[in-house]
Amino acid sequence: MMAADAGTTLIQNNDDGAKMPDKKKTKFDVVIIGAGPSGYTAGIYCSRAGYDTLILSGILPGGQLVNTTEVENFPGFENGIMGPDLMLDMRKQCQRMGTTIIDDEAVDVDFRRKPLKVLTASEEYEGRAIIIATGANPRKLGLEGEQTFGGKGVSYCATCDGPFFRNQEIIVVGGGDSAIEEATFLTKFGSTVHVVHRRSELRASKVMQERAFNNTKLKFHWDSEVADIKGEQKLQQVVIKNLKTNEEKTINAGGLFVAIGHEPNTKLFKNQIELDDEGYVVLKNKTHTSVEGVFAAGDVHDRSYRQAITAAAFGCMSAIDVDKYLTESG
Ligand code: NAP
Repeated sequence: MMAADAGTTLIQNNDDGAKMPDKKKTKFDVVIIGAGPSGYTAGIYCSRAGYDTLILSGILPGGQLVNTTEVENFPGFENGIMGPDLMLDMRKQCQRMGTTIIDDEAVDVDFRRKPLKVLTASEEYEGRAIIIATGANPRKLGLEGEQTFGGKGVSYCATCDGPFFRNQEIIVVGGGDSAIEEATFLTKFGSTVHVVHRRSELRASKVMQERAFNNTKLKFHWDSEVADIKGEQKLQQVVIKNLKTNEEKTINAGGLFVAIGHEPNTKLFKNQIELDDEGYVVLKNKTHTSVEGVFAAGDVHDRSYRQAITAAAFGCMSAIDVDKYLTESG
C-alpha cells in the first residue's frame, strides 16, 4: 500500500470504480481515525447505515495485520488469508459502501467543543461523531543502538523484513503469539532462529507452542534477555544474557525481531478523553468514551482480546452506538 508524502492528503479512488470522493469536503457525519479491522468495519457499518463517513487511515493503512503473515483464525477463510490481503479486501468493501478513505495522518483533535474536529497537517475535518480506531504500536526493547540499527537489522515486522536475512542467524525477542508466529515464519529464511524469552515458559497459545517446539530451525533461550547489539553499518552481533546465571553469549545474527507487545496509539487524545494509566482509552458505556460523540474501537481500548476478529467486532459495535447516538441527538 502506498504511504502519503508528509503533509500531502491522498484521496484514493474507489477501487470498484464508484464515484470519486470530493477533495474539498471536510464535514462528515462520522470521522473514523485509523484503518485496521476496527476502523474498516466501523466504516462499512456507518456507510451502510447511510452516514457520510470518512476514514483517516494514517500513512500505513491496514494496522497491525499488514505486518502479519497468514491469519488462520478469521472466520470465512477455510484455508486462511494473508493479513495484508484481508485488510485490502476490507478497504475495498468500505469503499464499495461509499466510505471516503484518506491516507493521511491525524495530527491533532479538538473534542472540547462541538463540532468535533480532527486535524491533519493540511486539513481540518469535522464529524458529528468520531470513532477512535488507532490501534496499538509495537513496544521497543529500549536498548542503546536499537534505533540506530532500525532498518539495518532491527525490525518489528517479520513479514516486511524477513526475506532480508536469508541464511543468516535471526533473533526473535518475546514469548507471546506474535513472537512465536514471527519466529516460525522467519525459519523460512534464517539458518537458525533464536527465540529469546525472559521467562521459562511461553505465553503463546498451546497450538503455536507445539508447532514451534517441533520446528528444528527454532532454538529457545529461556530466562534470557538481549543485553547488547553490535555491528558496523548494520547489525552483526547480538549479546544474550541469562537472567538466572548472568552468563552471556554472543550470536552472529544479522536480524533482531522485537515482538514484545504493543502500546496503544493514544498520544493524540491525551487531555481530550479519559485514558487509563497505560494509555488505553477508557470506555464509559458500551463503546462511548468520556466525551459525548466520541467512540473507540479495537486495540486502542482492548487489552484482553486483541484479535482481528474482536477488533472488527468492536468496530461494528461502535458504528451501532454511533447510529443510536446520532439518531437520538437528531
Ligand atoms: P503479548 O501477548 O503481550 O506478549 C508479549 C511478550 O513479550 C510476552 O511473552 C512478554 O513476556 C514479552 N515482553 C514484554 N515486554 C518485554 C520486555 N521489555 N522485554 C522482553 N520481553 C518482553 O503480545 P503479542 O504476542 O504481541 O500478542 C498480543 C495479542 O495479539 C495477544 O492477545 C495475542 O494472542 C494476539 N495475537 C494472536 C495471533 C494469532 O492468533 N495468530 C498472532 C499474534 C498476536 P512475559 O510472557 O514474561 O510477559
